[in-house]
Amino acid sequence: MNIILFGPPGVGKGTQAQLLASAYNLHHISTGDMLRAAIKGGTELGKVAKGHVESGALVPDDVIIGLVKEVLLEQMEHERGFLLDGFPRTVDQAKALEQLFTEIAIQDVRIISLDAPEEELITRMVKRGQDLGRADDTEETIRHRLNVYQQQTEPVKGYYAQSREIMSVDGLGSVEEVTQRIMKCLGHPALV
Ligand code: AMP
Repeated sequence: MNIILFGPPGVGKGTQAQLLASAYNLHHISTGDMLRAAIKGGTELGKVAKGHVESGALVPDDVIIGLVKEVLLEQMEHERGFLLDGFPRTVDQAKALEQLFTEIAIQDVRIISLDAPEEELITRMVKRGQDLGRADDTEETIRHRLNVYQQQTEPVKGYYAQSREIMSVDGLGSVEEVTQRIMKCLGHPALV
C-alpha cells in the first residue's frame, strides 16, 4: 500500500504521516522536511528553496518534481510502500507523479484528504510557530500559505477526482481520533 496524504497547512499532515508510516511500515517522504533539512545544511537545493519556503511560497515545480522522482526511484529498490506528505501541491506535480507511477508500475495508491476549518488551521500553526519556532509559522506567512493552498493546491483534488478516489477525512479532534478515522478509511489493520 502507498499513501498520498493531502491537506492544507496546519491540518496535522506531518503528525499523521509519522504515525501512519510507522503503523504500516511505510517510507515517509515529506517534501517540507527535505527542504528544511536542505536549507539547514546549506546545500544547493537549500539555497534555491530558502526564499520560497520562508515566505510561504511554493518551490518551483521542476525543482520539487526532480527531488521526489529521485527519492521514489531510490525507494523502489526497497520492498516497502511509501507515504507522500506535502506532495503533490500543484496540478503539474500531480501529473508528473501519475506519469512516474505509470513508468515504474506503482499500484495501490490511496489518497487521503484531511481538512479542517481555516480558523482552526491558523490557531494550530500560530501555536506550532511558538512551540517549534518554524520560520514560516508567523501569522502573515500562514495567511499567505493558506492562499497558496487555495489557489494552487485545491485544484489538485479536482484533477484527481477525474481518475482516482479521494477519501476525505475530518482533521478535527485529537491526534488519535484522526488516526483512527484514517485507518478506518484505509480498511487496513495496522502492522504494529
Ligand atoms: P510543509 O512542511 O509541507 O508545510 O512545507 C513547507 C514549505 O515547503 C511549503 O510552504 C513550501 O514552501 C515548500 N514545499 C513543500 N512541499 C512542496 C511542494 N510539493 N511543492 C512546492 N513547495 C513545497
